Amino acid sequence: MDKHELAAILEEIGTLLTIKGENPFKIRAYHNAARAIESLEEDINKIIEKKALGEIPGIGERLSKKIATIVKTGRLPYYEKLKKSIPEGLLELLKVPGLGGKKIKILYEKLKIKTVKDLLEACQKGKIASLKGFGIKTQENILNGITKIKTYGQRFLWWDAQAIALPLLEKIAAFKDVKKVEMAGSFRRKLETVGDLDILAASKSPLKVINTFIKQPFIKKVISKGPTKASVLLNEGIQVDFRVVSEEEFSFGLIYFIGSKEHNIVIRQMAKKLGLSLSEYGFEPIDHKKPVFPKSYKPTEDEIYKILGLCYMPPEIRENMGEIEAALKKQLPKLVEERDIKGDLHCHTTASDGHSTLKEMVLAAQKLGWEYIGISDHSKSSFQAGGLNEEQLLSQMETIHKLNKSKKFSIHIFSGLECDILKNGKLDFPDSVLKKLDYVIASVHSSFSLDEKAMTARLIKAIENPYTKIIGHVTGRLLLLRDPYKVDLTKVIDACIQNGKIMELNAHPRRLDMDWRYWHHAKEKGLKCIINTDSHFTSDLLHYKAGVNVARKGWLEKKDILNTLPLSKMQSYLKKMG
Ligand SMILES: [Zn+2]
Ligand SMILES: [Zn+2]
Repeated sequence: MDKHELAAILEEIGTLLTIKGENPFKIRAYHNAARAIESLEEDINKIIEKKALGEIPGIGERLSKKIATIVKTGRLPYYEKLKKSIPEGLLELLKVPGLGGKKIKILYEKLKIKTVKDLLEACQKGKIASLKGFGIKTQENILNGITKIKTYGQRFLWWDAQAIALPLLEKIAAFKDVKKVEMAGSFRRKLETVGDLDILAASKSPLKVINTFIKQPFIKKVISKGPTKASVLLNEGIQVDFRVVSEEEFSFGLIYFIGSKEHNIVIRQMAKKLGLSLSEYGFEPIDHKKPVFPKSYKPTEDEIYKILGLCYMPPEIRENMGEIEAALKKQLPKLVEERDIKGDLHCHTTASDGHSTLKEMVLAAQKLGWEYIGISDHSKSSFQAGGLNEEQLLSQMETIHKLNKSKKFSIHIFSGLECDILKNGKLDFPDSVLKKLDYVIASVHSSFSLDEKAMTARLIKAIENPYTKIIGHVTGRLLLLRDPYKVDLTKVIDACIQNGKIMELNAHPRRLDMDWRYWHHAKEKGLKCIINTDSHFTSDLLHYKAGVNVARKGWLEKKDILNTLPLSKMQSYLKKMG
């Protein structure tokens, strides 16, 4: 069990206790413990081994025992008993975004709401709005939340799915009869969210492999099983479609199951023109005369594409969005890679709502082998996120200046700011302050419900501010939680290009904003990208990998991305921007 899972359980216990109306101190202890665990640098298993749990602030003796039990056994009888003591429907209510323990308790006590269905009916009758402390706005938010859990259903962020998929793949690779195993499906194409996991293995004895697979302890339920395929539900709640083919079929199967469907339709048509039928099993001559390839033929994916007159296309771009035309002309992009990233300009610290200190962030970036890190805490209007006032900002700049001068760290620290774009498009600080910074990221953190025209004008005004250098998370979406606000992205992109401003690709796995679907066209028009992690913990810096994934989906190359520049070039680029 990792710290995120553990923190989630503690958080849930706190919420369940709230629903039950337990002692607020006890409740707070669980929420505080969850936060403390989330921000741990050291591996939780090691801490338990050293019996050092009690040294974590906010974790007393009783909690230590419970935590050790969860981590060691994956279960906690207390937690299970607690869950059982609450009507099942109420637990489901927790999935509605914006509904916490306190609200659920009131809804249950005052309106006898026990299920999502009850809640929906009460919203439709306007009962929630008239409840004390709720109001029309809350009722609307709850309604939106309900629709959201219905539309999004059980999807997973790619990043969360990865944490499940990669260890799983290793376990399957270790099965005795498995020759090869790879991820396929939308997961392999690095789509930002995935509904299930597709895994393809090669073996001489598929049935044996399937039988081993379905007996694994990580499986909660076998949904269906055949001689070469099994669909199962993992303990984590994600479905896996597992297929086993022969080694000869493996590359054909990979292309087929990686998809996308749209990509596959086009390549099948190309095969047809060559008199071949292409399927997940191989090439067959259409006239059914003699086979074109010997039975033992084991081509690689690359070779299959070559036969079709194409070249290998990385799975990320197999979306039939121009890759086949580009492959025919031998004009495929050389996609950016993780190792190209040299630093990050969007990081928060404990000065605003970050959980790691400035020095911890710098040290973590240095460990990644980067050449620079930019600190960009929130500005004063984001008071809910502990935004900095002028004095605090100037003092942070001074600290950064001194640190750079001291040469204590081998990497350079830029002093930046994530400045709120106010409702009228103005920035949160006067020019006299902004001009002292190395750079300003301008972001929207409030008034999300403006109409499209007003929101577009608001963003363009911020882009035109001479001190804005980067536009942060341009649509404000939170994948699987909150839709993007309404904005005319084409106009915003054009304004960035005209004013020489950089568009952020926010690499937080829940944001991945601006969406990859816009990048290919936008970069051709001249838009510059920066992959920023928007880190609030040192461990968040690793999210740059999620940013690189979607940058690749958006056809971005090293030269399109600003933070692939080495330090000296980055410094002169930012200076040149004014
Ligand atoms: Zn932000
Ligand atoms: Zn941020």
